Amino acid sequence: MRLFHPKLPIYKGSLHMHTTRSDGLRTPDEAAALYEESGYDFINITDHWVCREERRRPNMLVLSGIEIDYALETQCVHLIGVGVDPESLNLGERERADVKRAFREQSLQHGIDTLRAVGGCVALSHPAWSLNTLDVVRSLNGLFAMEIFNSVSRPPWNAERSDASALADVCAANGLLMPLIAVDDSHFYAGEQCAGFVRVQAEALARESIVDALQSGAFYASQGPTIEQVEWDDRRMIVHTSPAERAIFCTSAYYNPNRVAIRPGGVEWVYERRSELGETFVRCEITDAGGRKAWTSPVRWPT
Ligand SMILES: [Zn+2]
Ligand SMILES: [Zn+2]
Repeated sequence: MRLFHPKLPIYKGSLHMHTTRSDGLRTPDEAAALYEESGYDFINITDHWVCREERRRPNMLVLSGIEIDYALETQCVHLIGVGVDPESLNLGERERADVKRAFREQSLQHGIDTLRAVGGCVALSHPAWSLNTLDVVRSLNGLFAMEIFNSVSRPPWNAERSDASALADVCAANGLLMPLIAVDDSHFYAGEQCAGFVRVQAEALARESIVDALQSGAFYASQGPTIEQVEWDDRRMIVHTSPAERAIFCTSAYYNPNRVAIRPGGVEWVYERRSELGETFVRCEITDAGGRKAWTSPVRWPT
């Protein structure tokens, strides 16, 4: 099996960011211009409880997203909708507080189902920041991914909770293989922007194609390194990358002396499955010379 089709285009996108329509410090146009200048193919604006029009800029597609949030007893759940059709969602010019109240009168699952019913796909935001547990992640149906990296969930803006690797592995070890995305969650535009992104293989740079591709898992998360291809069968995983320093293969085994490869300039990383360790899944994390990471989603070892 392999992640990418050899011929289809791959698009760089930002899935989670805020503007002055909620608590972000840049207007939608200012924020979009910033990402367009940085070479992004698309962005998905996710203001809290606001969903406005989709737009095309000269060199970038601006998708209409939204972020919705719910408070539980010892954790919160934030969810981003990607590529939501704003006309079908039909929030109009309603106040954010009214939209929030209307959603929260229904269940959390109803929020996910609503965003999916209007053409979007839904991911779990910053689960480490939200103190999310396996049980809560498992209770949410219909997510296409969770954030493994959220740029603003670290100092100087937050405690060091930007990385959800441990939860991703706890989920995977319990049979819940959550695909992984990296995002900025830009609010301040003070260094957290353009730090975490996805590269998605889609038929075209259009809302439906991007949503379909995200739903199908044809993407990976990155802070910089490129993952050219991921291949796996019942014996090994091979990851082709831009020049990197290190690869770590995370599996359900607690310890495996062969899981970390350090090889400056390496572009091909091979992991041989250790069946005797009872491994059920594998995912790869790449680090380049600048310390920037890229992550494959976990895959189940074929039986
Ligand atoms: Zn959030
Ligand atoms: Zn956010």
